[in-house]
Amino acid sequence: MSDDRDRYLGMERTITRRDFLNGAAMIVGSTLLTGTAGSSNSAKTEPYSPTDHNPPRLTGLRGSHAGSFETAHSLRDGTFWKTAAPVFDTKEVYDLVVVGAGISGLSAAHFFRERFGKSARILILENHDDFGGHAKRNEFHLGGNLQLLNGGTFLIDSPTPYSSQADGLLKRLGIDPPKLEEATTDHKLYRSLGLKSAVFLNKETFGSDKLLVGEPGGRGGRGEKTRSWSNFLADAPLSEAVRRDIARIEESNVDYMQGLSSAEKKARLAKISYRDFLLEVVKADPGVVAFYQTRTHGEWGVGIDAEPALDCWALGLAGFQGMHLDPGAAPNMSYSAAGYANGGSYRYHFPDGNASIARLLVRDLIPTAVPGHTVEDVVTARVEYNHLDNPSSPIRIRLNSTVVAARNMGSPAAASEVELTYAQGRQVFKVRAGGCVLACWNMMIPYLCPELPDAQKEALHYLVKVPLVYCGVGVRNWNAFHKLGIQSVSAPGAYWDSISLNAPINIGNYHSPTSPNEPILLHLSRTPCKPGLPAREQHKAGRMELLATSFEDFERKTRDQLARILGSGGFDPAEDIQAITVNRWPHGYGYEYNPLFDPDWPEAKRPNVIGRQKFGRITIANTDSGATAYTDVAIDQAHRAVEELVPV
Ligand SMILES: Cc1cc2nc3c(=O)[nH]c(=O)nc-3n(C[C@H](O)[C@H](O)[C@H](O)COP(=O)(O)OP(=O)(O)OC[C@H]3O[C@@H](n4cnc5c(N)ncnc54)[C@H](O)[C@@H]3O)c2cc1C
Repeated sequence: MSDDRDRYLGMERTITRRDFLNGAAMIVGSTLLTGTAGSSNSAKTEPYSPTDHNPPRLTGLRGSHAGSFETAHSLRDGTFWKTAAPVFDTKEVYDLVVVGAGISGLSAAHFFRERFGKSARILILENHDDFGGHAKRNEFHLGGNLQLLNGGTFLIDSPTPYSSQADGLLKRLGIDPPKLEEATTDHKLYRSLGLKSAVFLNKETFGSDKLLVGEPGGRGGRGEKTRSWSNFLADAPLSEAVRRDIARIEESNVDYMQGLSSAEKKARLAKISYRDFLLEVVKADPGVVAFYQTRTHGEWGVGIDAEPALDCWALGLAGFQGMHLDPGAAPNMSYSAAGYANGGSYRYHFPDGNASIARLLVRDLIPTAVPGHTVEDVVTARVEYNHLDNPSSPIRIRLNSTVVAARNMGSPAAASEVELTYAQGRQVFKVRAGGCVLACWNMMIPYLCPELPDAQKEALHYLVKVPLVYCGVGVRNWNAFHKLGIQSVSAPGAYWDSISLNAPINIGNYHSPTSPNEPILLHLSRTPCKPGLPAREQHKAGRMELLATSFEDFERKTRDQLARILGSGGFDPAEDIQAITVNRWPHGYGYEYNPLFDPDWPEAKRPNVIGRQKFGRITIANTDSGATAYTDVAIDQAHRAVEELVPV
């Protein structure tokens, strides 16, 4: 991009996050690589003081931030032990060590204490500089007010109703999703301002830039109920045949598999991709593919080339309305699709997504670390990070600590103790415990436990996580959105798949902006993948892309896309953008089996089931061990892993 364009976009402007990335955050990062992050043997190296530690505000390139993954990668590459310092024995002994402070790890600590009593001594080790795993939050201070965004896990929502364990845990934390939804979510604000959903077609994919406002029906039924697709697409840079076929896919009631029963149709739709369904069954013009390509990104992390048509039917995509498919799940559907076909769970979005669940769990485990008493006040509570790893507390959370080995002391069958070795930069420490729950990313477990049976290691390696990146942008007002009449934009073919105004929620002392003149946060998402490859290969390619993208590249693409979408509404990227946080998740969603690429294994033969087998005093949790990516599953798997530690 030219210097002139960069100047117009504001690449030379001083913004909060970029300065943090290039300055303060890097200093903190290098401190972490040499510090001991609150461990009891801090005399050994320069102590790291977590007093001013407030990671949700730190930002820059967040998610898997610099300093969080290098140790794990060097362990994978076989280089870690060559440069590591000698292991220092902390002499700390716990009843349980949990690896991973995501919702699964925090829930494991909760269930263990419930099982073994309040005096149970538990240590949670986490490689990031914050707890929550994917359920992290971004804090912005715009115009003097706190504004929050989810850095990862967006909302309470699952394909199946929350189990008694998961629902029970939410209830104990004070979370009643339907009640909170009713009391705190403002569903009327954007509608009252006349804001609608829109589609942005970019010139690189469609020939010229065009913003189409007022999508008919809209995803989730939010769009223009009475508007026709041919009217909506009238000015789109699409050929007449493509416009006609999109209208046909969306509106016609043709049964493309006449003569077959619903079950027979479903069986066929399970075996072809949605892309092939559109091209070969609906016989649409190939130009429609680009329009629909990213519709499945948010759910599965790949496009319509790699998702079965039947799963897309369950997700509510168009083309099936005349096919008389019976409601409900069928054989050969993915976990998400089968669940959603049967109904799904309750839903609720906290202003910081499920980070509020993580904060409530930490409050439950270490009350002084998250001051307050209610589900409402947790949203604005200021976490006391220096209380997380307090020797006087029976439960401790140690951040910036990557576990590099988990070993039964003696043979797995006879062991009564586990030794955990963790690294903070090049410093290496060990602790002992009566049991261990590995609530970390399952594909890393073979490197932590090389003694595992080969079949189990192979199964764990199978679980390739889905890469995603969420970007939070603070803008000084949303007048352009108001003028253009838009609240959310899907952008198939552009860098960011979707852009939306932050959801208006008012909870406790937290209030969302109500006037377009006020600053607001935008949420942008991208699912990097490589259409045409098998799903797991697409995820690996997407991960490489994310790790190779600099903050500057993310920023330029963000400014460029916002300028092109909102420019005609008066948006000035240089003046209006105040802050940018990029939440990069190279290891995002837990892998969900895909009927187009994975065998239809019986339950016992599934890689996640083989992979999560108990190994002596070590058990395995995380959503990976449930082969999907939902908070209720993270909780359920934690419960199972803790129960497996209970002596028979
Ligand atoms: C961008 C994004 C959006 C999502 N949105 C939703 C949503 O809206 N609703 C929903 O239900 N689910 C959502 N999910 C799925 C989400 O993964 C789960 O809901 C849940 O938060 C996962 O919790 P977990 O504890 O199983 O795993 P994680 O949150 O991944 O936690 C595991 C933790 O273990 C740490 N770890 C890994 N290896 C080590 C090691 N060796 N040593 C120490 N620590 C280690 C990891 O860094 C991580 O912090 C989303 C996921 C992503 C990435």
